[in-house]
Amino acid sequence: MRIIYLLIICSLAGVLLLWLGIYKKISRKTAAISAALSLTLAGALLLLAVLPGNSFYGKVITHAENTHGRKLIALTFDDGPYPPYTQKLLKLLAAKNVHATFFIVGENAAKHPETVKLVQAQGHLIALHAGYHKDLLKLSSSEAAANIAYGKQTLQSITGTAPQYMRPPHGFKDWSTVKAINDAGMQIVNWSIIPRDWTNPGVQVIADRVCENASTGAIVLLHDGDSPKNLAPRDQTIEAVGLIIDRLRAEGYEFVTIEELNK
Ligand SMILES: [Zn+2]
Repeated sequence: MRIIYLLIICSLAGVLLLWLGIYKKISRKTAAISAALSLTLAGALLLLAVLPGNSFYGKVITHAENTHGRKLIALTFDDGPYPPYTQKLLKLLAAKNVHATFFIVGENAAKHPETVKLVQAQGHLIALHAGYHKDLLKLSSSEAAANIAYGKQTLQSITGTAPQYMRPPHGFKDWSTVKAINDAGMQIVNWSIIPRDWTNPGVQVIADRVCENASTGAIVLLHDGDSPKNLAPRDQTIEAVGLIIDRLRAEGYEFVTIEELNK
């Protein structure tokens, strides 16, 4: 079931109930209450689809349930590969001996397969973001399935391994999206910490937003890429990652991939 149909049905029901009330087919009070309930339901369903931290439409991983007594945290990077920033980030992560998870866009991977191979060679986890960076809620079921299949196939042909995890663009999901991703053999991963690094608010701001909200088992959403436009610089994020690693390590955190976090 696609949420867009439910939203249309709830909205039409609201309008119809108001119309019935206006023309006194039902009492105005009943019409007003029923219409308000329909529109509230539509709003709630929409919120549950766009807010990242709930599993209303199906299981979404947003943090580790159990870290077995260890202070684990996962850095995740969306929208790449995006030269030269992905390479700069890889250099930093290698120097700090940190493994992260890269949610890669299939279209970008097809343009830069050597960068994807580098990510893999350095021991990071490769996961799927989408075939093309489009809001899956706005696509038909078959378009969404084709988008996901293209992304999965592209990553598999470059790395030789099928991705096990996917983060839908913007973290948006509904029943149909969750089913399509699960049917393609992947679990959905969103996040628990979002420093909004893509707005380039400043290195220190990004680092503070992550460190001040850090907790055991957290998943941090950062960006090495800028899909679909591929225009914005990512220097701030990369510099902030260095600060984040040093600061959280000093607090006893260990950086792990989503696979390790999900054990
Ligand atoms: Zn994205």
